[in-house]
Amino acid sequence: ISATDLIEPHRICVCVRKRPLNKQEINKKEIDVISVPGRGALLVHEPKQKVDLTKYLDNQTFHFDYSFDETATNDLVYKFTAKPLVQSIFEGCMATCFAYGQTGSGKTHTMGGDFTGRQQNSAKGIYALAAQDVFACLNHRRYSNLDLSAYVSFFEIYNGKVYDLLNKKAKLRVLEDDRQQVQVVGLEEVYVTTAEDVIRVIQTGSACRTSGQTSANANSSRSHAVLQIVLRRNDRATSLHGKFSLVDLAGNERGTDVSSNDRSTLVETAEINRSLLALKECIRSLGKNSDHIPFRMSTLTKVLRDSFIGEKSRTCMIAMVSPGMASCEYTMNTLRYADSPHIF
Ligand code: ADP
Ligand code: MG
Repeated sequence: ISATDLIEPHRICVCVRKRPLNKQEINKKEIDVISVPGRGALLVHEPKQKVDLTKYLDNQTFHFDYSFDETATNDLVYKFTAKPLVQSIFEGCMATCFAYGQTGSGKTHTMGGDFTGRQQNSAKGIYALAAQDVFACLNHRRYSNLDLSAYVSFFEIYNGKVYDLLNKKAKLRVLEDDRQQVQVVGLEEVYVTTAEDVIRVIQTGSACRTSGQTSANANSSRSHAVLQIVLRRNDRATSLHGKFSLVDLAGNERGTDVSSNDRSTLVETAEINRSLLALKECIRSLGKNSDHIPFRMSTLTKVLRDSFIGEKSRTCMIAMVSPGMASCEYTMNTLRYADSPHIF
C-alpha cells in the first residue's frame, strides 16, 4: 500500500457490480438490460408492454458511490471497495464488506475469486487481495510500533445458526454479555503470518462449506459466509485492535416460485429475508448516526454488532447484478435494497 492509497473511507459505501452474460445466456440469446453510463450510475432497461401491446423500454436510473460494468476486474472492484477498509482496521476500525445479490450474480466470484488452479492475480478475489494488503500494512513501518498480530476465523450462518468452517462445522452459540458484547463461543481463530496462510485457511473452510451434512442440506447459496481478519495487540491480553469482516451473503431471491413450497425451504427463505432486512436496518441506522442499532433482529447482525456500533465502524456493500432480462425482477429487488441506505 503506497502513501497515495491512504484514503479515509466514508463510513458507508454502497457499490454495484454487473457481471457479463455467461455462455449459456449468450446461447439462449439473452438480452443484456443493464448499462453503466458513468461513475456511480446504473441503468436498467426493463422491457414492458402497454395495454395496446406496443413495446417500450422502461429506463430506470440508480445511483451508488461506484458502479462497475462487466469489464471491471476483481482487482479494480477491490481497490474502490475493500482496500480502504483494510487501511481502516489498522486505525482501529471495525470494518465490514458485504457481497449482496441473487444466486449466480457474482458474489462468490467477487469475494472468493477462483480457487481452482494457480492463483493468477486476475482470479484473486477480495479475500486474497485483502489478505495481501493486511500483511503489507502489518510489515509497514507506519504500523510496526503497534506490535500487532493477525488471526483469521471463518464461519457460516445457516437458518440463524452459526457453524465453524475451521472446526468441522461445529455448531456454535452466540452469547451477549451484560455489556452488550457479543461472543461466538468457541470460534476457532487461526494465527496467520502471511497472505498464503490466509488463503490456505480459506481453502480449508470453503471445502468444509460445500461438504458435510451438519447444517442439513445447506447449499452455499442459502447461507451467509463470514470471513474475519482480526488484528490483536501482542500484549498479555492479546486485546482487539481492529477487525475486518468479509461477508458472502445468502442469495436474496425470494421464494416467489410456487415450486418451492416444501417446509424447510420456506423456513430457510424466511430466515434469509429476516436477516437481510435486519442488515438493511442496521446499515440505515448507522447512516443516520442513530443511537439505536437493531442488531438483535438476526444472528447475522448480532455477530456483526461491533461493526455497526460507534465512530469506528466502516461498511461497504457491493450489490451484484446479473445482466440478463430473465433476471430483471431480481435485479430490481437488489438495486432497490442497495439504494436504500442513501434514503435517510
Ligand atoms: P453467486 O456467488 O452470487 O451465486 P458466483 O460468484 O458463483 O455467483 O457466479 C456465478 C457464475 O458467474 C460463476 O461461474 C462465476 O465464475 C461467474 N461470474 C460471476 N461474476 C463474474 C464476472 N464479473 N466475470 C466473469 N464471470 C463471473
Ligand atoms: Mg456464491
